Amino acid sequence: MEVAVISGKGGTGKSSVTAAFATAGDRLVVADCDVDAANLYLIFNPEHGTGQSYIGGHKAVVDHALCTVCGICESYCRFDAITEQEGKIMISETSCDGCLFCSRICPMNAIKMVRSDKSRMYSGSFRNGMMVYGRLAPGEENSGKLVSMVRDEAKKAAGETGMKIILMDGPPGIGCPVISTVTGVDRIVIVTEPTMSGLEDLKRVFEVTRKFGGEVGVIINKYDLNEAMADRIEGWCAALGSALLGRLPYDRRVTEAMIAGKSVTEMFPDAEISKLLKDIWNKLITNGKE
Ligand code: SF4
Ligand code: SF4
Repeated sequence: MEVAVISGKGGTGKSSVTAAFATAGDRLVVADCDVDAANLYLIFNPEHGTGQSYIGGHKAVVDHALCTVCGICESYCRFDAITEQEGKIMISETSCDGCLFCSRICPMNAIKMVRSDKSRMYSGSFRNGMMVYGRLAPGEENSGKLVSMVRDEAKKAAGETGMKIILMDGPPGIGCPVISTVTGVDRIVIVTEPTMSGLEDLKRVFEVTRKFGGEVGVIINKYDLNEAMADRIEGWCAALGSALLGRLPYDRRVTEAMIAGKSVTEMFPDAEISKLLKDIWNKLITNGKE
């Protein structure tokens, strides 16, 4: 079974919820698909078994021996990646989008495109199973390809170890990496917060994900910061036939646990929020049959 935890935007507590789920029950495979900002490895500190490179695209490199500093490339680069510095043309690796345009228009053939292979995917064991995660190098495009690689590796790890559940921490938003994360999964958990922007983001991500994935459920995190808005979100869920998986109260112990490199369910197992999270997780993986 594959479960993906996502959110319409960053900062909703998605990774804290995923970390809690990852340590709430049986051993499982965790896949951190938030490759732009992978952070679960900081909590789970996996022992690396493998590290693979990922070819993320191309970067422009200038050959100064051929360049006449005519400035044509600088004026045409729409990503402002090219600048002249002290009489030399410089190309910023992080700003270059790899569009190839400069290499085609340079009258001196002074720009070459080189493959960019700094992004990495890692796989290893952690205290409650296996963990796979990708880390995108700065400036590299997250097309969803690295997410697919992470998912494939997670499936391989599950097959080799006999673990039945793959839990994915997805990227925020509604772009290609999110679609790569949720396509074909069994359960999607959207973590939202009780604000107007939280509701709008939830609507957007709900519309996108329900076309690509399995059953969608919603968790309202920190619901007690705005109970009226939490009620409104709950009403919206009911109107669309989406399950409200639960409301979680604000609890500073969630952050305390993360700072200590643990999930809240590990560090404060008797806290009300830990019990709620375990309950949601058990219902998710048993399809509410427990
Ligand atoms: S277009 Fe070519 S020759 Fe002109 S500044 Fe750019 S790299 Fe140099
Ligand atoms: S490849 Fe495209 S983005 Fe990169 S420097 Fe050339 S024109 Fe700019």
